[in-house]
Amino acid sequence: MPSFQLNEVTGITGAVTYSVRQKMFSDLVSDTRRIQPGVLFLAFKGERFNGEDFAAEALRKGAAGVMVSSGCPEETLRKCNGTVLLVEDTLKAYQQLAHAWRRRFPDLPVVAITGSNGKTTTKDLTAAVLSARGPVLKTQANYNNEIGLPLTLLGIRKEHTAAVVEIGMRGFHQIEAMAPLAEPKIGIVTNVGETHMELLGSLENIARAKSELVEAIPAGGTVILNADNPYVAAMRDKAGDGVQVMTFGLDHEADVRGENIRTEGSDTKFTAVYDGERHEYSIAMVGRHNVSNALAAIAAGFALGLRAEEIREGLLHLEATKMRFECRRVGAWNVVNDAYNASPMSMTAAIETLSDLTRGRKIAVMGDMLELGSVSVEAHRKVGRELAAHHFDAVVTRGEMGRYIAEGAEEGGIASVFCCGSHEDAADRLHKLLQPGDTILFKGSRGMQMEKIIDLL
Ligand code: ATP
Ligand code: MG
Repeated sequence: MPSFQLNEVTGITGAVTYSVRQKMFSDLVSDTRRIQPGVLFLAFKGERFNGEDFAAEALRKGAAGVMVSSGCPEETLRKCNGTVLLVEDTLKAYQQLAHAWRRRFPDLPVVAITGSNGKTTTKDLTAAVLSARGPVLKTQANYNNEIGLPLTLLGIRKEHTAAVVEIGMRGFHQIEAMAPLAEPKIGIVTNVGETHMELLGSLENIARAKSELVEAIPAGGTVILNADNPYVAAMRDKAGDGVQVMTFGLDHEADVRGENIRTEGSDTKFTAVYDGERHEYSIAMVGRHNVSNALAAIAAGFALGLRAEEIREGLLHLEATKMRFECRRVGAWNVVNDAYNASPMSMTAAIETLSDLTRGRKIAVMGDMLELGSVSVEAHRKVGRELAAHHFDAVVTRGEMGRYIAEGAEEGGIASVFCCGSHEDAADRLHKLLQPGDTILFKGSRGMQMEKIIDLL
């Protein structure tokens, strides 16, 4: 457990003590549901939620101490019976403590992953590859933000042989602030696409923000870049002196080059060419985009000195995260749940993959791609046209932008197109539409919760 002495906490964070009882903390916790005897509870302030309201209760539940902001009302502090620490910014203190914990394992190689699409999948693949050498810590689910990253780092234990962390971003300087907490030796950029257009305004800006990871890799480290994405390939110039650059790709010359992709059931086999040698790999995932993600993971394996056979063995232990192109049977239908999120690039990947794999009828149930700003209307129309180009038999949409997907699909010549006002309507429509053996793709932004329609079937 990430234990800290009181004097370490004050030294690292500059906290001042308001009252002192216990001087040893067995763990750091910011989630009220995870409070255990002995821990230090850090009170964060969210938009809807103020952790300070739980400080007194945390101590009653046995927490060894609480950390609150220096602006915390005296009245709240007086109710706290135990060690109370005051800092200017509790989130910053949490990050500082997580960084200090990470530094207790100086030899642990950390791989940090960013990109517009495929971060979580590449994280799972990289952790699988590296697991060939022993236990690997990885970001759980999608905890890739300024709270999730420190939470992950606090999970480092001495038995870990590597850590793989996902770093998301919603603006400039976020990766720049987060990456140093993890002190990564290896940085992977999967791709640059129109994912946070509303926040960053252009692909150039998204690329600039993602390249902050490349700049964070120190001499002796390696950056792993997608040769097939021009914005990522150009990040080579951002690598510092003494940083090795490795590339991966399917369509362009690359240090780790994928070829000969075959789908066998729910597995994908492919050849990776590295250093003049050809190696055969298999992953329990479908889709060409996932081969690209796997090549990044394989490159990380080579960068850390794993042999090709170890990488192959590691990939067999893949533990994928849910709702990423999850295929299953529901009644007489084949359901593909890719509803975790959606962006123009991931929509294309899902549509192409499904159409490559499906011989029978194909139905798309599509929700809005959120946060696209000024490119939104055109991006949704394009999804509709792509569905038509890949011969989908019917399209059901949800959400305000769904009508543009519908327009594109109709323009492209799909006859059965329906815009639905609720998930229930969409499920009703599907019941009328579906035939045994149909394959149905569910996809939309996280906020659209498209997977709930599957539950209604
Ligand atoms: P988030 O920003 O929400 O954390 P992420 O970058 O972690 O997303 P994943 O969760 O791995 O991405 O995948 C999300 C979706 O993106 C998948 O369901 C898949 O359709 C698509 N996707 C995954 N990898 C790629 C890729 N290399 N290129 C394009 N699309 C991809
Ligand atoms: Mg993710």
